[in-house]
Amino acid sequence: SLEKALSSEKALSVEKAEGIPPISFTYFPHQLTAETALLCQGYDAVCVFVNDELNAKTLYILHEAGIKHIALRCAGFNNVDIATAHELNISVSRVPAYSPETVAEHTLALILTLNRKTHKAYNRVKEGNFELSGLLGFTLHNKTVGVIGTGRIGQSVIRILKGFGCNVLCYDPYPNEQLKQEGVVYTSLESLFSQSHIVTLHCPLTEQSYHLINESSIALMPKGAMLINTSRGGLIDDKSVINALKSGHLGYVGLDVYERESELFFSDHSQDIIQDDVFQRLLTFPNVLVTGHQGFFTKEALSEIATITLDNLRFFAGD
Ligand code: NAD
Repeated sequence: SLEKALSSEKALSVEKAEGIPPISFTYFPHQLTAETALLCQGYDAVCVFVNDELNAKTLYILHEAGIKHIALRCAGFNNVDIATAHELNISVSRVPAYSPETVAEHTLALILTLNRKTHKAYNRVKEGNFELSGLLGFTLHNKTVGVIGTGRIGQSVIRILKGFGCNVLCYDPYPNEQLKQEGVVYTSLESLFSQSHIVTLHCPLTEQSYHLINESSIALMPKGAMLINTSRGGLIDDKSVINALKSGHLGYVGLDVYERESELFFSDHSQDIIQDDVFQRLLTFPNVLVTGHQGFFTKEALSEIATITLDNLRFFAGD
């Protein structure tokens, strides 16, 4: 598989597809940045992930190095300066629809862990403490959940939530007709925020959606509401979230993504960032649950990512 291929430092060939020359890969165990882009000298394509930085500076260096294609192994493409890639005639492929259920299930895992405080309970039981005080949860059945973004993952989340007997409210600038016919209710962002016990984000990070969750959107949410983000860190202004956790206005926060996560993953200073004011303060709240961008990380999703990325590269190679 591509994942296996990419975890080997050796160059290797992938089996020949009809009419297309075999593809050779070299794995570099580095984040792609303007500093490491020169490693791509002499290659035709580069295969990257969510935390690689494909800004204009990196793209100019890649172009000079001979790169003609960028194969993203992820759905989101907010880390690529698409306009500059276009200008430099570098094509970009991504994996838009690998197992949306995988991320949807992780979203539910965050919701269900937070609403029943399972993470706290587990730590207590390990210490032989079977007290229930402080573990009072709430039932998901009949709660109103606001889903922002009703693409592939959002739709999967909606279907699971319906199974739990939740009332679902949605917002998307492009409402899905099929979902509407199935009875899914679209509303304005303001009305979604003001009616939802739980708000979950499933839209891409764009100029329009940057810091969609901020002081004023949180103020609209009911006291004690839950906020879940498995999409991209930049959708949330962390400082407003911390203030709302402090005041008790937000009751629960579940995050799989964090604005400075590329620094956390790749930096030699990840401990400094963990100590950083905002991240550290988020982790000190017992009603906050953070996972490290693992929403996509199942056997099934990795296999689909590898297959689709290889198809994308074969398409590029055969072009
Ligand atoms: P998708 O393209 O199928 O759906 C995105 C939806 O968001 C679309 O319906 C679009 O109209 C809507 N949208 C666009 N701008 C919006 C806005 N400003 N407000 C509300 N809705 C808006 O994408 P998807 O496959 O469902 O993925 C959603 C996001 O999940 C991705 O962009 C990616 O950032 C994230 N993701 C995270 C992981 C993970 O491991 N945590 C894995 C895959 C994807």
